[in-house]
Amino acid sequence: MTTVEPTTRTELFIGGRFRAPASTATLPVISPLTEQQIGTVPESITADVDAAVDAARTAFASSGWRSMPAAERATILNRFADALQARADSRATAVSTENGMPITLSRFAEGAAPVQLLRYYAGLIGTLPVEERRSSQPMPGTTVVRREPVGVVAAIAPWNFPAILSMFKIAPALAAGCTVVLKPAPETTLDSYVLAEAAIDAGLPEGVLNIVTGGAAVGEYLVAHPGIDKVAFTGSTAAGRQIGRVCGEMIRPVTLELGGKSAAIVLDDADIETTVGGLATASLLNTGQTCYMSTRILVPHNIYPTYVDAISAMAAALPIGDPLDENTAIGPLVSDTQRNRVLSYIERGRADGGTVTTGGGAPDGIDQGYFVAPTVFSGLDNTSTLAREEIFGPVLTVLGYRDVDEAIAMANDSDYGLGGTVWTSDDERGLDVARRVDTGSFGVNTFNLDWGSPFGGVKASGIGRELGPEGLAAYQRTKSVFLTA
Ligand code: NAD
Repeated sequence: MTTVEPTTRTELFIGGRFRAPASTATLPVISPLTEQQIGTVPESITADVDAAVDAARTAFASSGWRSMPAAERATILNRFADALQARADSRATAVSTENGMPITLSRFAEGAAPVQLLRYYAGLIGTLPVEERRSSQPMPGTTVVRREPVGVVAAIAPWNFPAILSMFKIAPALAAGCTVVLKPAPETTLDSYVLAEAAIDAGLPEGVLNIVTGGAAVGEYLVAHPGIDKVAFTGSTAAGRQIGRVCGEMIRPVTLELGGKSAAIVLDDADIETTVGGLATASLLNTGQTCYMSTRILVPHNIYPTYVDAISAMAAALPIGDPLDENTAIGPLVSDTQRNRVLSYIERGRADGGTVTTGGGAPDGIDQGYFVAPTVFSGLDNTSTLAREEIFGPVLTVLGYRDVDEAIAMANDSDYGLGGTVWTSDDERGLDVARRVDTGSFGVNTFNLDWGSPFGGVKASGIGRELGPEGLAAYQRTKSVFLTA
């Protein structure tokens, strides 16, 4: 098996350099493929978080980052993108080693995509005015509306797409002139050292980006830290609710990108081969550990058995194995905890009367690694636990519907509203369905995020938007200056 060298790190990236942590506490780096510990990283304590927030505050106040002309910040961000590009493969390998993501996916999502996103925001800031003059009303005069950086940002990322989801926050925050303290998930800390090395290499001013390590307790301390001006969080709805409560109490702006239970609506005119091929990505990307997966597949009753068979055959044919193997489509789940959680949902589906049409447990012939075979359930309804709760693994539920109105009602009958897809041979019909689904984003015969357009959730899937100009605005606050003439 390939491993990333070095798998052990002993320092923290704070104030523009690697420095010794305040304690000797460490976090293990566990391979989800071998279930063995393959290294350690330091675990931050509160003194480390204080030092990182101090460094970010100092950089915000006096490094000149916030007041620098946009073109100058863009030049530095493009250098940062160059330095990351040079390390794209090693970042992708690090992520696959840590969380089991198939390497063909991590090369794009975790290697190339963060570079693209950084360049997108570097390009965008030059096109948007910092100040805009408006004629005042009702009194005569002019108002200058300024867009100012919100300040020091706490960016908290999950383990499923650690590099790109961190960059969803870092790129617009830095572009806006903010400074950042990033806390990756404990399962995926190692790859963030590649980010730190690129920041040093690019000459990012010291303290503009800092990284602390650790789990929920470190995150909680960071969220409530008096030196933080804004929190940007991606993770579970449960943690998001807690963070939202703290930020509400502190009147602290917060962006929450949370869980999902999105629906794929298969219309009666869909081409079955294209649809089922598309669902392999729209429903099972990253072994189902992707927030916007269409995991409830809604199919007209009259073609239900045909689709159950086709979806089951697709899921059964996906190659399972070593995430660093080019042919792998389904890797191990990130951790033992995650595997057990997914297996317990499968048991729940069975207990609720569902039929497992493929999968249903560990894959045959694999006795090591946190693997769960892609699993398809039929015979459940939209009120079942499997149709309502986010599983975050390779488990799909195929549900029958009578007509399009009922399909849309079922799609909307969810606590969540993050993604969703419709499958049809008529794009206009698909767009009509998209207009009626209560969600933050939706795909017609595909689901691809767009760097230039907002992404985020409604209902329990979150508050606020990332990506696009809207994602930049989340790191700016306006100030209105009233002039007499
Ligand atoms: P998680 O909520 O357990 O952890 C996410 C991050 O938050 C980690 O860094 C963790 O250490 C930290 N954290 C946990 N509790 C915290 C608290 N109370 N205060 C501060 N920080 C805290 O989620 P996870 O298991 O790492 O990730 C999976 C979840 O993320 C799924 O629910 C998934 O849907 C969601 N997700 C959402 C999106 C989106 O864009 N909406 C994208 C990817 C993942």
